[in-house]
Amino acid sequence: MSEEAGAGRTRQLPVFHCPYCGDEDLTPYEGESADGWRCSACLRAFSVRLIATGVQH
Ligand SMILES: [Zn+2]
Repeated sequence: MSEEAGAGRTRQLPVFHCPYCGDEDLTPYEGESADGWRCSACLRAFSVRLIATGVQH
């Protein structure tokens, strides 16, 4: 399936390091929740969620 950039859905955030072991060997993980990454070093799967932007109200 292909996804158009900026089509209204938030794209998967790029993750460069595993937050648990710091390895860089990450591959997209497709579990029950859409966005995720899987670390090939420690075999953990995790998701990254944006909880805020720099915009102040
Ligand atoms: Zn890891």
